[in-house]
Amino acid sequence: MTGTNSMDRALRARAERVIPGGMYGHQSVRMLPDGYPQFFSRARGAYLWDADDNRYLDFMCGYGPNLFGYGHEAIDRAYVAQMQEGDTMTGPAGVMVRLAEAMVELVSHADWAMFCKNGTDATTMALMIARKHTGRKTVVLAKGAYHGAAPWCTPVKAGVTPEDRANQIFCEYNDVESLEAAVRAAGDDLAAIFAAPIKHDAFVDQMAPTPEYARRARELCDAQGALLVVDDVRAGLRLARDCSWSLVGVKPDLSTWGKAIANGHPLSALLGAEAAREAAAGIYVTGSYWFSAAPMAAALETLSLVRETDYLERTQRLGGLLRQGFDEAAARHGFGLRQTGPAELPLILFEDDPALAKGYAWCVEMLKRGIYLHPWHNMFICAAMTEADIARAVEAANDAFAALKAAGAPEPPVQLAAMRTARA
Ligand code: PMP
Repeated sequence: MTGTNSMDRALRARAERVIPGGMYGHQSVRMLPDGYPQFFSRARGAYLWDADDNRYLDFMCGYGPNLFGYGHEAIDRAYVAQMQEGDTMTGPAGVMVRLAEAMVELVSHADWAMFCKNGTDATTMALMIARKHTGRKTVVLAKGAYHGAAPWCTPVKAGVTPEDRANQIFCEYNDVESLEAAVRAAGDDLAAIFAAPIKHDAFVDQMAPTPEYARRARELCDAQGALLVVDDVRAGLRLARDCSWSLVGVKPDLSTWGKAIANGHPLSALLGAEAAREAAAGIYVTGSYWFSAAPMAAALETLSLVRETDYLERTQRLGGLLRQGFDEAAARHGFGLRQTGPAELPLILFEDDPALAKGYAWCVEMLKRGIYLHPWHNMFICAAMTEADIARAVEAANDAFAALKAAGAPEPPVQLAAMRTARA
């Protein structure tokens, strides 16, 4: 069982005074069950320590960046070596070209690469390039898909004007008719179809793309002269050593990357096909830190591990073991789980739990046992996890289900309902 939380409580009280809302964005724990720590002190491999030194096996992996383990020695060595040579300079280092070559080599649809800092930078650039390329405005997106936190896409509408959201038409993921209807509604103004690599929306079951949906998106873009964008910021490198839609045999014109590409060092990327090169060269985008060399050196090392290790098969196998273990433990105590999505990107919801009351209560029991899970966002398996770690998590799950059963029906989390309404 994890211990104290006095340091976390003290930091939160101070944060209330100097950080708006105490914390903001996806790393605010206000949408997580009470008891989740807000502040952390260190991380190594698959483990994370909170500000009070409680240790957790971390299935959030920093919300995605941790692919090979926190503090990975070879990746961090490459980072430090480049940092000591020169990092944020008056211009980029040669490593930028080496990294662009490595990404173009790895990702089959890509002929060029641009680098930036956050996934939102990359998706916003994709939007601009599609509009520049076509001279049109309208984009088709799947309802509920996350593409970042800029005014055109942030999920909460506070501070956003209708004009920021103009020229967007929504369709249902994996629904070919709905996609076709959205494209029809765009008339002769379609600039792009944005596609999530899988449906990995918050609060709902995940879904792989059907080949029909992915192919139809490609055909519709071709027929209209629009660009197809796959947003691989979260799933990139976790499902394939290529763009995630290589798994359904569809090549986008643009793909967006971030999170895992430098194993946690700040870097994101936009990759593109030849057809979009001129438009990409024509938009003006930049940032003070976009050309920093050390994260690029870390990314280059990450990509060599992607090419040369069995990290992908390993995370898939460990994810499979976790899923099976959790299912068996749940069934033993009379609970039904809905575990959806690829095993290496698991999302876990409970049957008959629309308000997420059981999910929240179970996650709290897991947290007490040193396992950090998320009750409504997809999680991540990292390559630093071992079979022993998975066995620990399954054993904790068994005890957590027993505790949940003994406690009786849990109360629905009140603040979650308000937050979900704000996002709707
Ligand atoms: N697209 C997807 C699919 C994402 O998951 C995210 C981040 N969760 C983003 C875009 C935005 O990335 P960032 O938070 O780095 O701006």
